[in-house]
Amino acid sequence: MSERGRGDRRGGMSRGGRGGAVRGNRGGMGGRGGRGGGGDRRKGREGNNNRQAKKKGGSKVIIEAHRHRGVFIARGKEDMLVTLNMVVGNTVYGEKKVVVEGSSPEEKKEYRQWNPFRSKLAACILRGIRDIYMGPGSKVLYLGAASGTTVSHVSDIVGPTGAVYAVEMAHRPGRELIEVAKIRTNIVPIIEDARYPAKYRMIVPMVDVLFADVAQRAQAQIFSINASNFLKNDGHFVISIKASCIDSTVAPSTVFSKVRDELIENQFKPIEQISLEPYERDHAVVTGVYRPSKKEKAPE
Ligand code: SAM
Repeated sequence: MSERGRGDRRGGMSRGGRGGAVRGNRGGMGGRGGRGGGGDRRKGREGNNNRQAKKKGGSKVIIEAHRHRGVFIARGKEDMLVTLNMVVGNTVYGEKKVVVEGSSPEEKKEYRQWNPFRSKLAACILRGIRDIYMGPGSKVLYLGAASGTTVSHVSDIVGPTGAVYAVEMAHRPGRELIEVAKIRTNIVPIIEDARYPAKYRMIVPMVDVLFADVAQRAQAQIFSINASNFLKNDGHFVISIKASCIDSTVAPSTVFSKVRDELIENQFKPIEQISLEPYERDHAVVTGVYRPSKKEKAPE
């Protein structure tokens, strides 16, 4: 892939789009609906199509709804993936903001840049994943929350009617996560080891989506035990797999297939798999459905 196709480490996106997905050839910004999703644009809290906005330095940008609900593209000198800031004025990790002035202060909207080099979920969106299965109102159990970088964008996506149950076992990032959750009231921080879901069963309800980015050897087991406790039948999953954390002695593709097999044995039905290159090396994201009651078609 050329440099032009890579965006930059600050999280900008070039207009040229990106390389295709592992399956099919859906460039992140081009291809099937990648530029915000031809014909699939939604209105409402998330639907602020083609609004003129201003980046903090003053340059003009246009906001377009992405085909993933709750996700947007700020088109300007440099395109950026953004989410609608649930808490106007708040930033979480020094990300850029794009402001859309309304005719009254209540109508003012703010978007936060979502950096694919700092978030596997953003990376898989830019790589053209077909569905992330979360949108306004979703309840998401998020394993491996760290200090809340990606969690904060999931909080924007699910909005005030949704919830993110964010599990992190390390205390230092956990403290920062708690601070983020004090401001973003749809985040429930859980400072626990995700290997022991019984410890948080009183806090977490059945959820629509299970997401994991724990970068751990036992991540498939951790994922399965959390799914069996909290994920609805026909609920969806999104798992980020870092090959070297599981087995650095074999090819990443072998690790990915092993994890997929383990997931299938545990009643997960994978629908899509996507590589996170060039944002993350030897990482894949697998999405799918849990205990499906009916057949869900895999993308061609
Ligand atoms: N998802 C984060 C983001 O995008 O902002 C980055 C997550 S980082 C790659 C992995 C995190 O998983 C680390 O913060 C680590 O402490 C956490 N983790 C690893 N094993 C865990 C476990 N068993 N339970 C809870 N958290 C765990």
